[in-house]
Amino acid sequence: MRLLVTGGAGFIGSHFVKRMVAAADVEHITVLDALTYAGNLDNLRPALDSPKLSFVHGNILDPELVTTLMAEHDQVVHFAAESHVDHSFYQAGAFAATNVLGTQRLLDAASKADIAKFVHVSTDEVYGPLLVGAAAEDAPLRPTVPYAASKAASDLLALSYSITFGLPVCVTRSSNNYGPNQHPEKVIPRFVSSLLDGDKVTIHGHGQHVRNWLHVEDNCAGVELVLRGGLPGEVYNLGSGTDLTNRELTALLLTACDADWSRVTYVPDRQANDLRYAMECTKAEGLGYKPQRNLQEGLAETVDWYRRNPDRWAPLLRNRAAAGPHVALNLE
Ligand code: NAD
Repeated sequence: MRLLVTGGAGFIGSHFVKRMVAAADVEHITVLDALTYAGNLDNLRPALDSPKLSFVHGNILDPELVTTLMAEHDQVVHFAAESHVDHSFYQAGAFAATNVLGTQRLLDAASKADIAKFVHVSTDEVYGPLLVGAAAEDAPLRPTVPYAASKAASDLLALSYSITFGLPVCVTRSSNNYGPNQHPEKVIPRFVSSLLDGDKVTIHGHGQHVRNWLHVEDNCAGVELVLRGGLPGEVYNLGSGTDLTNRELTALLLTACDADWSRVTYVPDRQANDLRYAMECTKAEGLGYKPQRNLQEGLAETVDWYRRNPDRWAPLLRNRAAAGPHVALNLE
């Protein structure tokens, strides 16, 4: 297998690359990543030393580059995206550019090359909020924020390339991931880094928003199953059995960081904040998907990683204030 991974220097993509470098049938992996504020080559160490891995610093919006790379690979896993919901409220154009147009450029190049499988990595947020029940893969997409809308657009574009051009596309829609190496803008590392720094953490609104939490390694195992065995044109939900309100998550993180509720303040809810996401994962289970990580153990291990690696997140907290989503727009 010659595998092209976009966004492989980001949080989930880097875990996936490290997993696949170890697979005997993987001949070569190329990571294509623009190294925006969210990308970091350190996430790929020590796999970067492997002769099986090359890194290309480039943008998925660059049609010549992606055409060249598609010709050299037979499988693609597409993680690259602007991924932070809050940024999408004030920089929605960057989300439309990378997530929608960037995905379309990759699909276009892939449909003209000899690609045996193109896995597009999507999210449970495309389904929008569900007050009761759980979304199966054929549930309507009702995204409510620009991030989720841009992911829904790219998700549907990917599926349309399967029907229109016969490109063997699979889509994965996963719930919230956690684990080592996540950028401290996201809720778990933000809470953990603040608590370890002696700061307070903030809960939006009443703290009753429900999210499903999936260890990043379990998501990567699911993406690998879909890459190897997913049927072209199909969507696979990837979640865990663990749904928590934000208050419940906060309680677990306070315990894991040896802190108490005096470190928590409440702030008004953001302008859009879906109350609950929930998915059924029976299709992925049919491929052998079975999340292995228990949340409490996974959180303890994650907190331990942030405790041992302040050099990996403290500079990002300082730099983040000055930077925004960084994408070289090329709309020609
Ligand atoms: P991330 O923000 O940590 O990483 C994104 C990576 O993409 C970075 O390395 C960045 O440099 C790269 N990138 C951004 N724009 C690019 C461009 N134009 N060209 C090339 N590279 C570019 O994101 P993540 O949390 O690892 O998420 C990966 C994927 O999984 C995304 O598609 C996201 O929507 C999806 N997803 C994430 C979660 C989650 O909980 N993190 C949940 C469900 C789905």
